[in-house]
Amino acid sequence: MSKHPILKVAVNVPLSREFDYLAPAHGAVPTAGQRVSVPFGRRQQVGMVTGHASASDVPAAKLKACVEVLDRDVLLSEADLWLIRFVSDYYHHPIGEVVAAALPGLLRLGKPLHPSIEKVAATELGASADLPALEKRAPKQALLLEALLDAGDDGLDAELATEMLPQWRRAAKGLVEKGLIRFFETLGDEFVDELASSRVPGPELNQDQQSALSTLRSSDHYGVYLLDGVTGSGKTEVYLQRVDDVLRAGKQALLLVPEIGLTPQLVSRLRDRLGVEPALLHSGLSDSARLAAWRAARSGAAKLLVGTRSSIFTPLKQPGLIIVDEEHDPSFKQQEGLRYSARDLAIVRARQLDIPVILGSATPTLEVLQHCRNGAYQRIVLPARAGGARAPSIRLVDTLRAPATDGISEPLAESIQGHLADGGQVLMFLNRRGFAPTLICSSCGHIAGCERCDSRLTVHAARQQLRCHHCGASRPLPENCGECGETVRPLGEGTERLEDSLQKRFPRAVISRIDSDSTQKKGAMAEALENAASGQADILVGTQMLSKGHHFPNLTLVGVVNADQGLFGTDFRSSERLAQAIIQVAGRAGRENRPGEVLIQTAYPANPFWEALIKGGYRQIAETALSERELTHWPPFTRLALLRSAAPRKADAHRFLLVARQYLASKSVDTLRVLGPVDAPMARKAGLYRAQLLLQSSDRANLHRVLRELRPVFENDPAARKVRWSIDVDPIELF
Ligand code: ADP
Ligand code: ZN
Repeated sequence: MSKHPILKVAVNVPLSREFDYLAPAHGAVPTAGQRVSVPFGRRQQVGMVTGHASASDVPAAKLKACVEVLDRDVLLSEADLWLIRFVSDYYHHPIGEVVAAALPGLLRLGKPLHPSIEKVAATELGASADLPALEKRAPKQALLLEALLDAGDDGLDAELATEMLPQWRRAAKGLVEKGLIRFFETLGDEFVDELASSRVPGPELNQDQQSALSTLRSSDHYGVYLLDGVTGSGKTEVYLQRVDDVLRAGKQALLLVPEIGLTPQLVSRLRDRLGVEPALLHSGLSDSARLAAWRAARSGAAKLLVGTRSSIFTPLKQPGLIIVDEEHDPSFKQQEGLRYSARDLAIVRARQLDIPVILGSATPTLEVLQHCRNGAYQRIVLPARAGGARAPSIRLVDTLRAPATDGISEPLAESIQGHLADGGQVLMFLNRRGFAPTLICSSCGHIAGCERCDSRLTVHAARQQLRCHHCGASRPLPENCGECGETVRPLGEGTERLEDSLQKRFPRAVISRIDSDSTQKKGAMAEALENAASGQADILVGTQMLSKGHHFPNLTLVGVVNADQGLFGTDFRSSERLAQAIIQVAGRAGRENRPGEVLIQTAYPANPFWEALIKGGYRQIAETALSERELTHWPPFTRLALLRSAAPRKADAHRFLLVARQYLASKSVDTLRVLGPVDAPMARKAGLYRAQLLLQSSDRANLHRVLRELRPVFENDPAARKVRWSIDVDPIELF
């Protein structure tokens, strides 16, 4: 390599290329994996060096030098950079944006790996200040001073202060002037992987679990294992033992969980059983806590890393095992920007690192099942519930014969009554939040719709608002119809209404509603789940949020209030999704000694889906769906990519995709089917018209070849400036 190499630098801009720079005038030449600050346009940007080159297409006179090298050490290893490059190629996404997605926020902004943290604390003078007097003159200052006095000598992270009192800096200024508080900087706390003094032993594994474990132990090299175990079959127990092996061998384990799966319950179970402190990575953390966990994974200080989808990018010093729990969960796929699947990347990364990867689910995706069928992945089955628990029984309630009032039919009400009387807990599942999904005029039939979307507005009674669940718009709840002035009424039910109606029917029951409205406040979710697990709540009412992985020991009845929307979905994955949702929520019932029961309200009890599900379970549904997909050429038998565009004018959104269509037609690629452009299922959302073009091929290489060619066509198309566009490889939401 020459003494003055050209640096290849990935910069966080939406262009599919790296940029060439000279090394800074002084000091060592940065190497791949170090961040640099580079002049870009009129500004400076943080970039990641991805490699060196001996020549550049840019004329020497125009080549600029980096301003500064930001990292003393190499931040990302060869293996980390390999993954970034893979993601950029596979998802056809600009490499600079992939780097940005892979780094914690502070590093993305150019902050050092060990940033100092801004803190604020009360001074001695502050400790003896006359608070009541201050409160009269400057109540905001008094509030802040009080919080700092509570925090003690170590003071408060500025970041935390902002969370507690958003406007605190103005008050702080006054307090500093009076000498009552001070600012200072410290280094962030290092992650301590302290061993708990005693580990809590787990249950003895049953025979199925033992044989699963011994299969998993058969190799420390690359292999994909599907742990296909019914709900409550003790999958987590098996993971725990396998993780324990890996930790004992001095290696690290990465456990990926769905967004809502990272509960205090799981974390304390891991901590108690393994005797290590798990490093957590999820969106609820402060920036510095996130960076600390990332650093600990990279340095090897943290042995067990538990995180949601983006933690798949975290560097690991001694990787030994990756687990994806609930692999079917859609939250593993990012749905905006860089649309990656963390589940798929877990497999890619494990192969590259030559370590095993375990996918766990009671309702595996058809993609994964098909890989098991053709022998690429190994399927390990846990057919029955662990310990003494039995599978719940499932029964349908025909709502044409027994109509539901405010969401609850008589048979369901009786069943609730019975379970409550026996001291059991009840879960009512309805995947629709708010009071009612529709506000309708009793006279003219007009339905309140969103002005910016093709959607109805949801009635929220507690807030007395109409809200759009697609763009977030809201307005006060009207009493009269906007069209004819007559009275309006809410139609249908959401979780809020269901909670009301249950409270009326069961006035003495403690009801807890768990959905994204009721758990917005920090800590509200954890508290609600704690109350559910401890049995303080008699009836739980909730959305999908409640169905995932939770273990509520006392829960014996699950009611599925309305599943019928799912029966007639237009997406080819509808029946797979519906079966997953029902089996998962049903799996919350009867997890300990008392048997569980599941009641499903439907107006279509004769639909063959129900018989298949009740008689054959998820397996039957999955087998049938796989055969159908093979006949109809849908994934996993073909590969898809979805091109989306959105623009203020409908014609622009369509025209942009027509360019792609014409380009593809001119190439006449084998095996490629191009469908569209068509309107997106909700054509207008947040004021933009949306269109889509679906690419389908039985040959993955072909599909990727055309996508590779299309990306620059898009980037250089003048029409691109009028639209927002994206490429979604292996999309999971089609319609
Ligand atoms: P899953 O992850 O498959 O839903 P878990 O591992 O959470 O299942 O186990 C479900 C319940 O069964 C937990 O309460 C767990 O402690 C218990 N359990 C798991 N394995 C055993 C076993 N071998 N013997 C007794 N109880 C067990
Ligand atoms: Zn809207």
